[in-house]
Amino acid sequence: MKLIKVAQPIIGIEEVNAVKQVILSGKYISGAKVQKFEEKFANYLGVKYAVAVNSGTAALHVALSVLEIGYGNEVIVPPLTFFSTVSSILSLNAIPIFADIDPKTYCIDSEDVENKISERTKAVIPVHLYGNAADMERIMKVAKKFKLKVIEDAAQAHGTEYKGNKVGSIGDIGIFSFFATKHITTGEGGILVTNNKRYAEKAKLIRNHGMKDRDNHIYLGYNYRMTEMAAAMGIVQLTKLEGFNKKRIKNSLYLINELNKIKIPWLKTPQLEQHIKHTFFWCPVFIDEKKLGMNTKQLIKILLNKGIETRHRYWEPLYKQKVLRNRRKYQKRIPPKKNQNTKETNYKNIYLKNAERVAGKFIGLPNHVGLKKEDLDYIIDVVKGII
Ligand SMILES: *Cc1c(COP(=O)(O)O)cnc(C)c1O
Repeated sequence: MKLIKVAQPIIGIEEVNAVKQVILSGKYISGAKVQKFEEKFANYLGVKYAVAVNSGTAALHVALSVLEIGYGNEVIVPPLTFFSTVSSILSLNAIPIFADIDPKTYCIDSEDVENKISERTKAVIPVHLYGNAADMERIMKVAKKFKLKVIEDAAQAHGTEYKGNKVGSIGDIGIFSFFATKHITTGEGGILVTNNKRYAEKAKLIRNHGMKDRDNHIYLGYNYRMTEMAAAMGIVQLTKLEGFNKKRIKNSLYLINELNKIKIPWLKTPQLEQHIKHTFFWCPVFIDEKKLGMNTKQLIKILLNKGIETRHRYWEPLYKQKVLRNRRKYQKRIPPKKNQNTKETNYKNIYLKNAERVAGKFIGLPNHVGLKKEDLDYIIDVVKGII
């Protein structure tokens, strides 16, 4: 039986040739390809500056460093995201504070962001989950009122639009990933975008050992440079992004509409919002385990046995991760807050209702660019057959 994969990088001979050319040129770092990729990406997004790095995680780390997030500062994040949204904060000895999700978008709830602000809060990282968009209008309003910086984690949302603006271009800084399964890929890679010249210049230094010129290190920096090979691949992939997105959206809407027609009681398709152009990094469907009469893991196994691979993240709200639960000792070393509310930083005590209700109960159906209509029809048939 053939396996319908949930995601796969779509690469053509153009990418191969572009990379080959770079390899033969002997120029591998900080050259014309990286610069061109940055210009093209900034242009695509409608921002002034882009700084390419070697992963989405590196982009987050650089973004937080640019904004001088450090020891004891709090950064508000959603509990349903990839771990590096949080680890990048921890790596700077800053404190992730979790706000609940909005059950409509599964992204961070802007109202709960406001609830979680303290005198230590420096920034908020809305994550545009599964290709959807967080409630940026309200998040920007809250950020302005409380003088917070906004870093958009758009690692799953290349080309997603919120009220006509591409996500990543709305906050102070936006970050993207080019990991193999993302909308477009450079193998490994990431990029940071901003309209702030000072942020862009600082980010360029931080990705290169904080080095202003030889033997002159003015910031704590790292080696986060993107290679010329990766950038060459990225330039080609970027020309294909809109086409990829069209197909992703078409596949996802086909699945959603067909599944809605059948009205499967145990399955809920995503609620689509007028003002958001969802690019469906995932086609997430929510499983009502009670109505289905089995748990999501069992369902995933059944689908896999029928040749359908699915995504199944995130199993748990991130505050349940061991690395955070063991953070208590470290928290004690941070001087107490004025209003001594340590509830949010003792991760064992956190319970965010909406996140708890849905975590582990999503599956992402295959929706990638390589799928044919017969694949989608097969998926619908199999799902229909599970009663
Ligand atoms: C993929 C991803 C990242 C990290 O990107 P890498 O390139 O894998 O380091 C960060 N945040 C989210 C939401 C992601 O999906």
